Amino acid sequence: MEWNARRLDVIEPSPTLAISAKAAELKKKGEDIVSFGAGEPDFETPAHIKEAAKKAIDKGQTRYTAVSGTVELKNAIITKFKRDNGLEYSTNQIIVGTGGKQVIYNFFLATLNPGDEVIIPAPYWVSYADIVRLAEGKAVILPTKKEEGFLLSPEQLEKAITPKTKVLILNSPSNPTGAAYSRSQLEALGKVVLKHKIMVLSDDIYECINFDGFQFSNIAMLSPELKELTFVANGVSKAYSMTGWRIGYGAGPVDIIRNMDTIQSQSTSNPSSISQAAAEAALTGDQDCVAEMAKAFQKRRDLIVGLLNAIPGVEVNVPQGAFYVFPYLTGVYETEGFKKLAASSSEKSKSKLFCAHLLDKYKVAAVPGIAFGDDNALRLSYAMGEEDIKKGVSRIAEMVRDLSL
Ligand code: GLU
Repeated sequence: MEWNARRLDVIEPSPTLAISAKAAELKKKGEDIVSFGAGEPDFETPAHIKEAAKKAIDKGQTRYTAVSGTVELKNAIITKFKRDNGLEYSTNQIIVGTGGKQVIYNFFLATLNPGDEVIIPAPYWVSYADIVRLAEGKAVILPTKKEEGFLLSPEQLEKAITPKTKVLILNSPSNPTGAAYSRSQLEALGKVVLKHKIMVLSDDIYECINFDGFQFSNIAMLSPELKELTFVANGVSKAYSMTGWRIGYGAGPVDIIRNMDTIQSQSTSNPSSISQAAAEAALTGDQDCVAEMAKAFQKRRDLIVGLLNAIPGVEVNVPQGAFYVFPYLTGVYETEGFKKLAASSSEKSKSKLFCAHLLDKYKVAAVPGIAFGDDNALRLSYAMGEEDIKKGVSRIAEMVRDLSL
């Protein structure tokens, strides 16, 4: 008897989570690991949010809620969209899920038929393509160039659209490059979207973490016509340092929300009632904590970009937001040391080989670029203290130096 379902043939475990788990396991064994693995803010969840959760427990908010989220949290989300994005939604256009990932997963289960195409600009977050495949869609990967700031051009989008194209994924600021689209760049893409009437999944999870005064926009904010074609996914994990609470939310057309609600009702039911109370406090409370965390990330970005760029053979674009850097290693791949390493290994992916060696010999965990659709790079999450950033990057520099000898 063959027990494995065929759907497993098209996916693999999340590489970001796998690498963090490996780093955590090694740390537990007493190894001195610096982990640039999964992206999660290292700050405490702000005190007023934790208090709201404790109060919810004490008040007995420990039972099922409506599948798609409490009315109170939906109202808080509606207020957030109005306040931060100038977008108006009604409660039947909002769904709350167990993390942004579940919201994105249910969105694709609710919209794709077998063979429907989803355009994913690369480098992309590790889970998009696998989620699309699990939903029996076809992931159409469009590579973007480092020299063009890792941004998709309208011409590229136009060329990739076929009669089967259903959705374009936009993630700005981006995981893993930190690239972000300005309003005018979104307008140019929006024209193509409107012409072909495709849907946009706008993953705004890093909305609040952007640098140098960059003004965040999403494509739904540009016109009522584009808003009708957009599903916005967001969550409290990154903005409020609440990764473990698992609250994401989505806003979009009523029919899609209803279908996602049906799927959720037959799978997980409501997200945690206590986490929902906490998320409500996060979205309606004082927003200063968000700006403070973003400021700390900008300082760390400056530090890590400077340190990485000083390593011969390593080149890094300056991220506009999020808390990742995506250094290019093409110069390192050319070194004699790396060529020797490659010749002695059966590993075909250069970024996987680089990261395996880095973890094994230099005790630094990083995610290979190939997991994001670009084997020329690796991804470092710099959501950690400055001392750890310095320690980790100096180990990377040491490895590169050793490979160049
Ligand atoms: N989004 C984060 C990352 O890319 C969290 C881990 C995950 O779900 O991939 O590291």
